[in-house]
Amino acid sequence: MVVDISTKLRYNEPMVFERLVVGGLESNCYILKSGDIAIIIDPGAEPDKIIKAASGIEIQLILATHGHYDHIDALTEVKKATGAQAAIHALDWTYGFDLKLQDGQIIEFGDEKITVLHTPGHTPGGCCFIIGTDLFSGDTLFPGGYGNVSFRGGDGQAILKSIKEKLMVLSDQTKVYPGHGPGTTIGQERSLY
Ligand SMILES: [Zn+2]
Ligand SMILES: [Zn+2]
Repeated sequence: MVVDISTKLRYNEPMVFERLVVGGLESNCYILKSGDIAIIIDPGAEPDKIIKAASGIEIQLILATHGHYDHIDALTEVKKATGAQAAIHALDWTYGFDLKLQDGQIIEFGDEKITVLHTPGHTPGGCCFIIGTDLFSGDTLFPGGYGNVSFRGGDGQAILKSIKEKLMVLSDQTKVYPGHGPGTTIGQERSLY
C-alpha cells in the first residue's frame, strides 16, 4: 500500500500539512500548519509557489532534511519573503542557514512537538523529522528502498544503520513522507531492513 500524499492532507488534527512538488527533480516541499503558524520542510525550488502556499501564516521555522540543492535551492527567497530562520544539521551546513539541528532535539510547534533524528548516510548531516506518527524522511527512506549513497559524503553502511536504529524502531503505523515521490509506512518497509 502506498499512502496517497498527492493532495492536501489533514491528518494529525489540529496539524494540517500540504505537499508541494517543486523543481526538476520533483522534490517534496512540505508545509506543516498548526493554528496560525507553520513550518516549511525542504524549500527545494519554485520559491513563488512555496511563498504563495505559506502566505498569511507566520512561518516559525524552515527545516532542511539535508543540504542537497534540490531541497534548499529556494531557501534564500523563502527566507526573505517570510522572515523565518532556517535550520539544518551541522554536518550539512551551507550558506543561508541560521540554526544547527542536533539528534534528539525537540522543536516546539504550536501544540505539537517535532523530534529531530540525525540519519546520516545519504549525506553526513541528513535528518528525518517526526511529528506525532508522521515521519518526514528526506532522501533517507523511500517506498521500497533508501536514498542514493553514491554522492559525495554518501555512506551505504551508515544509511542502513540509521534506518535500522532510528527509523525501524518507530511503530508500523508511522506514515513516511519522503523527499521525492509517494509515501509509505514503516510497517510496509520493515521487511527490507
Ligand atoms: Zn539528496
Ligand atoms: Zn533529493
